[in-house]
Parts: sequence; structure tokens; C-alpha cells
Amino acid sequence: MSIRVRFAPSPTGPFSLGNARTALFNWLFARHHKGTFLIRIEDTDKERSKKEYEEMALSALKWLGIESDEPIIHQSERGDRYAHYVKKLFDTNQAYYCFCTSEELEAEYQAQMSQGIAPKYGGKCRHIKKEDAETRLEKGEQATIRFRMPEKRIAFTDMVRGKVEFDTALFGDIIIAKSLTEPLYNFAVVVDDYETQITHVIRGEDHTPNTPKQIALQEALGFPQVHYGHLPFILGADRKKLSKRTLTSSMLDYKEQGYLASAMINMLALLGWHPEKDREVLTTEEIINEFDMKRVQKAGAVFNPEKLDWLNMAHIKLMSDETLKELLVPHIPPEWKNDKDRLMRVIHLEKNRMRKINEFITNAKLFFELPEYPASLLLFKGTTTHDTESSLKETEQFIKNISENEFNESALNEKIMGIANERGRGMVLWPLRVALSGKEMSPGPIELLTALGKKESLVRIAHAIQKIEGALRDRS
Ligand code: GLU
Repeated sequence: MSIRVRFAPSPTGPFSLGNARTALFNWLFARHHKGTFLIRIEDTDKERSKKEYEEMALSALKWLGIESDEPIIHQSERGDRYAHYVKKLFDTNQAYYCFCTSEELEAEYQAQMSQGIAPKYGGKCRHIKKEDAETRLEKGEQATIRFRMPEKRIAFTDMVRGKVEFDTALFGDIIIAKSLTEPLYNFAVVVDDYETQITHVIRGEDHTPNTPKQIALQEALGFPQVHYGHLPFILGADRKKLSKRTLTSSMLDYKEQGYLASAMINMLALLGWHPEKDREVLTTEEIINEFDMKRVQKAGAVFNPEKLDWLNMAHIKLMSDETLKELLVPHIPPEWKNDKDRLMRVIHLEKNRMRKINEFITNAKLFFELPEYPASLLLFKGTTTHDTESSLKETEQFIKNISENEFNESALNEKIMGIANERGRGMVLWPLRVALSGKEMSPGPIELLTALGKKESLVRIAHAIQKIEGALRDRS
């Protein structure tokens, strides 16, 4: 039997971390078993469903590389299918019209609560004959449709939790539709899962109490039962609830902030699952190969934003310089592309310290535009302007003598560190580094020389010497 799963978001809010994790686990399960992954939009709630939320969800999924293998289904377009199955339940006397008003139901609920009883529908309309109900409907009375819930124990084997059992007597007769063509969640899910031949339902733990209701409906309609797996809650780093900000921030915000899709997938996969050898940095291919619902934990899964940063850094390092360039090019100032070799050298260097893609612009700026800085910054502590001038001039000469093909990290390291050790590290390296970066803090001088290249390095050193000479002139 080929595996078929679905991800069924309700487009009633931004596409969050929890949504993305559910989508991913379904997709990984399908990919691992060479099955089919479907997306179904659960937009029966007309007031709360918004097209923009649906679009957000789909573009976030697309960013992660998760797409539906078959055309996307919208529940709002399937009214006639639901009507077909509601009628079946009426025909077998497993559904009935309920005329109770919301005020009546609320009063019943309050009365039960005050007596300490778990609230459920008392069954007032259970015995109204179908013909009588139809006459009342024709006269314009409002009604909902309820399912005659059988009173029994329903058990299922959860892929994560093992055997789970519920007593359906606790539920009472649930409302399954507002009218023939307006189903509520549990009923629509059962119909759709059946019609799209879903074999496994993987969703958040909050849905566990819905599962026995859905199984009861499947039994009533003569549908085969599907397999269920409920994913653990996602907790904040303090093992408490996720912060509101994390809960409601959309997946696309992470993209905006400069996270890689591969790092996001890695992080989401570890929210409740881990591979056999407990490795943490995994490519999507590796996760697909190793994914197994048996390795999904029951306990809450902790989301740690620092871990996401760390994973993102690791995934940036895994990329080739060329791929990283492709990703960066749309974001960088056009003039940075004029010197392609320099750009590639800077990417190679920055790749090792970038936590997020968008940090590149800030970190790499100094390689393309030398910042303004005061001459005094060139002075290593305790040294004079004169000493600094002669140190820079000496280094300049030294660099001029290094041939272009020796202008690489290891050769430069050997040569520059050679004179630095001879003349004093601070004396040589500090002014050189400031001359090359224009900053108090920056990458080291060897890295700067390598990334800038010989020509630009010499331009910057000459500029620093001019500054020092200017300062000396001003003083005399
Ligand atoms: N639409 C439901 C939700 O967004 C999911 C339903 C399901 O997976 O059965 O929570």
C-alpha cells in the first residue's frame, strides 16, 4: 500500500513554527516512504479564513521546498461532497437536526459546569423525527446537524504515543455541520481524508481528542480507519509555553531575517525527532533518508532560537561559495559586483562567521567601501605617530614585494607574521589592520589582505600613510 498523507492548514492566521513542523513531518514521512504528500486548505470558517493567510502558508512552504504532489484542495469548494455524506448519515439515522438555540446551549453548559459535570449536549433534539424537522426548517427555523455519537470505548494506536483510548460517552452528540453543505471541522476532515485516500494523519497533539470523534464518524460512514500520529507540543527554551512572539511570528519572517531554508528544515525536524546517532547538523536529504515516526518523542519539544542561529551558521558553512553567492547577489549593492574576484574572496571569508544571510551586507561593507576613520585610530597603544608611520611604510614596501601569486592566506601569514614577530606584533599588525579595515574591530590583517587583494590593500595602506603624514604636519 502506498502511503498518502496530507497537511491541512486553516488559513486563519500567520503560518507559524508549529504549522511548519506539522507540514514538514508529513512531507518527510511521505518522501521517506516514497509516498504522496497533499495540501488541503481547511477554509470552511468563512469569517476567519483569509486568502492572504493561505498565500502566506503556501509561499512559506514553497520556501522550505514543500509542495503538494497533487492539486491543492479547498474545503470551501467541496460543499456537495459533504452534503452527500451528511445525507448518508441521515439515511441511516445517525444524524439529526438540532434546533437548540445558542442561548439554550449556553445555559445547559453553565448548569453542568456549576454541578461539576463535564459539559456535553443533553440530547434534547435527539428524538425529533426527520419529517418534523424538515417541516420546521421549511418554516424558516434555524438548525444545526448533530451526529448520534455511539457510547463506547474507541482505541487507536498512535504512531507516537502507542495505544490511546477514549470513552465517546464523554463527547455527547457533536455538531457536524451548520447545514448540508457547511460542515464543521471533524466531519469535513473525515470526508476529505477518505476521498483523497489518506493513509496516515500526522498532526499536533492538540488534535488528539478529535481523533476518537473522527474514528466514530468513519465507522458510521463505513470508511476504513487511518493511522494517526500526534506530534508533541513545542515549548519555549524555559520548557514553558512558547512566547507569543514566537508563536505568532510567521515562517516568512525567518526567511526575511536571513535564515536558510535548509537550516529551518533541520531545526524543525529536531522539534520532536532526532536521528539515530544524535547528530544535529543534517541536510534535508539526510533527514529524509533517516526519518522514522518511531523516533518521534512524546515529551514536549524545546525550540531554542540560539540553536537555530547555530544551525544556520552550520548550514551556511556547508554551502559552496558559488551557491552562497547566488543567494546573496539579489541583496548586495550593485557596485560590489564590479570586482567579481574580490566579491568571491569576501564571500569565502565571511562564510565562516555569518549567522544569517542578511548579516553579510553589514559585515562585508568594509571590503567595498573603506569607512572614514581618524588618524589616531592607527596608533597602537603606547606607540608614537612617527613609529606608526615608519611601520606602515615598511609594511607597504614589504607587501609591494610579495608577488601576485603569493598573495594567498598561507604565504601572507608566513611573511607578515615573520616581520610582526621581528618588529613587535602590535606595532606591525594593529596599524596594518586599521589601515585595511578603517575599524577598531575587524577581521585580522591576513584575512583582510587576502580578501581585499594586493591592489586594494596597497591603496588603503597608502591612504593610511597620508593620514598619518597629515597628522604629523598639523602638529609641526
Ligand atoms: N486544520 C487543522 C489545523 O489547522 C488541522 C486538521 C488536521 O490535521 O486534521 O489545526
